[in-house]
Amino acid sequence: ANRNTNELIEKTEKYGANNYHPLPIVISRAEGVWVEDPEGNKYMDMLSAYSAVNQGHCHPKIIQALKDQADKVTLTSRAFHNDQLGPWYEKVCQLAKKEMVLPMNTGAEAVETAVKAARRWSYDVKGVAEDQAEIIACIGNFHGRTMTAVSLSSDAEYKRGFGPMLPGIKLIPYGDLEALKSAITPNTAAFLIEPIQGEAGIVIPPAGFMKAAFDLCKENNVLFIADEIQAGLARTGKMFACEWEGIEPDMYILGKALGGGVFPISCVVADKDILGVFNPGSHGSTFGGNPMACAVSIAALDVLVDEKLSEKSLELGEYFINKLKEIKNPKIKDVRGRGLFIGVELTEPARGYCEQLKDHGLLCKETHDTVIRFAPPLVISKEELDWAIERISKVLG
Ligand code: PLP
Repeated sequence: ANRNTNELIEKTEKYGANNYHPLPIVISRAEGVWVEDPEGNKYMDMLSAYSAVNQGHCHPKIIQALKDQADKVTLTSRAFHNDQLGPWYEKVCQLAKKEMVLPMNTGAEAVETAVKAARRWSYDVKGVAEDQAEIIACIGNFHGRTMTAVSLSSDAEYKRGFGPMLPGIKLIPYGDLEALKSAITPNTAAFLIEPIQGEAGIVIPPAGFMKAAFDLCKENNVLFIADEIQAGLARTGKMFACEWEGIEPDMYILGKALGGGVFPISCVVADKDILGVFNPGSHGSTFGGNPMACAVSIAALDVLVDEKLSEKSLELGEYFINKLKEIKNPKIKDVRGRGLFIGVELTEPARGYCEQLKDHGLLCKETHDTVIRFAPPLVISKEELDWAIERISKVLG
């Protein structure tokens, strides 16, 4: 049946738990950087499902991989091997220059996995006394919505009514090396950090911090874990955002674009001396490493590399950010970003601007009230970017 936007939003709001506040638009089709509502209105997507569709909506090669795999086998569980898992492991390991992968489905699950791995590593390898392991994370972080992830959070609204929280967590101000130094104890298992804080408003740490923090962790036998779920996989103009400071973390947490926005898949990647702490029975997931996800992810990673999306993001990001900086408006407090991962911070709430941008055919979402995030699919062309800049200049100028 041909349903219209109002009818569909009404139904969604009537039956759904109220845990989101979406812009009033229904998307019923999408291709590349463009999405379409049931009435046939077209919009440019400037959010990319929080960087899950870096490869663009419904990329033909990724969709083909999905269709081909759907005709063969979709799920085996890990009770048996499947023919897509090994080749996918190899691809991810080569990309991340690591020895081992552990597959899950969502970002939050991969964060859970990273915390479990770090804790067990601290007991089995580092020699921390039972149940004494500590994880250091950063104020303003976003690692997802499971109990571990919200326990890591510094945002009261993410935690309210969900206690008791997970113990063994310490928070430091993002980018504060002295605070990290003071927080490390002999019981510290890991330091967990987003190389750029996405949900906090595209917050970039001070130059040199990541490298210095990494060195400090090495000196203290603390694992350095990079949550690259949003910033990784070409978004910032590098395959991994950690490359901006030339570091290779002990563990990457990946998700979102790992499945090209087509199929959920996430993972942690590290060397054997860390991920080797898992043995049969210690961790798992019915859908983790399923052949659909692996086949799709192989295609999704190929698209990132073959279409040089890191390079594209770097080049177009620089062009875009310079154009944004040219916009004159006293309400613009800061324009910052790396690659096509850009935040425009305002001195007032961003929601109204996002609603106006939508009326001009551009879909953006405010993050943390005063920041507009611009993160289009990385397959965007310069012409399409110019189209966007014209409209952004109208609304923000
Ligand atoms: N970590 C980071 C840095 C994220 O940006 C997100 C999602 O926005 C997550 C973890 C959680 O991922 P998921 O929503 O797939 O659980």
